[in-house]
Amino acid sequence: MEIHKNYDLTKLNTFGINVRAKFFTEIKSELELQELFKLPEFQNNEKLFLGGGSNVLFTKNFDGIVILNKLKGIEILKEDSQNMVIRSTSGEIWHDLVFFAVERNLWGLENLSFIPGTVGGALVENLGAYGAELCEVLENVEALDVKNGTKKTFRKEECGFSYHDSIFKKEWRGKYFILAVTLKLSKIEKKNIKYRAFTEYSEISKLPLNSSKDISNAVTFIRKLKLPDPAVIGNAGSFFKNVFLEKEKLEELLKIYPNMPHYKEDEVMKVPAGWLVEQTGWKGKRIGNTGVHEKHALVLVNHGEATGEEIKNLAKEITDSVFSKFGLKLTPEVNLI
Ligand SMILES: Cc1cc2nc3c(=O)[nH]c(=O)nc-3n(C[C@H](O)[C@H](O)[C@H](O)COP(=O)(O)OP(=O)(O)OC[C@H]3O[C@@H](n4cnc5c(N)ncnc54)[C@H](O)[C@@H]3O)c2cc1C
Repeated sequence: MEIHKNYDLTKLNTFGINVRAKFFTEIKSELELQELFKLPEFQNNEKLFLGGGSNVLFTKNFDGIVILNKLKGIEILKEDSQNMVIRSTSGEIWHDLVFFAVERNLWGLENLSFIPGTVGGALVENLGAYGAELCEVLENVEALDVKNGTKKTFRKEECGFSYHDSIFKKEWRGKYFILAVTLKLSKIEKKNIKYRAFTEYSEISKLPLNSSKDISNAVTFIRKLKLPDPAVIGNAGSFFKNVFLEKEKLEELLKIYPNMPHYKEDEVMKVPAGWLVEQTGWKGKRIGNTGVHEKHALVLVNHGEATGEEIKNLAKEITDSVFSKFGLKLTPEVNLI
């Protein structure tokens, strides 16, 4: 394991922000990680575990140590006639894990296809898309305690999952390194294609949505069409979370904005953040090197040489506009570093 100094992170974050880390290293095994934990560069500095860098916005140079996760390996732990239990290490590319599952006709990950990043990042963020969330198929998480290197296994119930959130993103942020996840995937069909995008896809492509692989292909197709490729234009997917509010507040707003889209989720109501941003006129706007994508109001982009601070300022302006028009507060899904 090599420790680099003053390391360029531009290619390690999908926003493509040009920042540097005081120290940087890549880890390929649990043993290397244990050794790293004992080094002064690790012990005496702020730490940032990095996967695909697809949910971070660097607002300045990182005055600490960045640890890039390259732990690889997917294995089948057990199976019966109904389920297969698989363990994936956290540095695996998320979509490779989805592919592993759909190739074996397993159900549970197909709606989460073609999302950038690693398995570890997906766990921290409780990855979600097209009506599915990672936590739904999770059995447990193995993590290393950064303080003393001890290995702990957390059951799903201990991980504090909610919409795009987990305890590892909040209270335990930086306290644990996620090593691996164990997932229970179904061999029995569990199709979840209620989103309109699936019907549109079937009508246009005339392709079937029978197997989990068909659904994975559909999601991949739709995402390629809708979302900007970070290799072409820097972005971190949706910058803001959807807004959840009480029924009473929604009813008040519907009197003023009868067309406001809304969905019932458990006991609360959800309003798409993209619609709120669009209504304030930000979609497709550009300020200097930053902007809002023309096809997707939730995606903030780096048109070239933007700094993280400039993108943060743009996000603040959008948040202020939405608040002054609707009295609703947008919260970022992206981690500001
Ligand atoms: C084009 C595009 C589309 C996207 N679409 C979606 C979507 O549909 N749904 C969705 O939920 N997200 C989406 N995202 C956001 C992002 O891809 C996910 O949140 C992804 O799971 C982040 O994984 P990562 O490895 O890149 O995490 P990173 O960005 O590297 O890290 C995210 C956070 O997790 C922490 N972390 C990462 N690995 C570990 C580890 N091993 N141990 C401890 N902490 C760790 C980091 O410190 C950081 O705080 C999209 C992003 C892009 C660019």
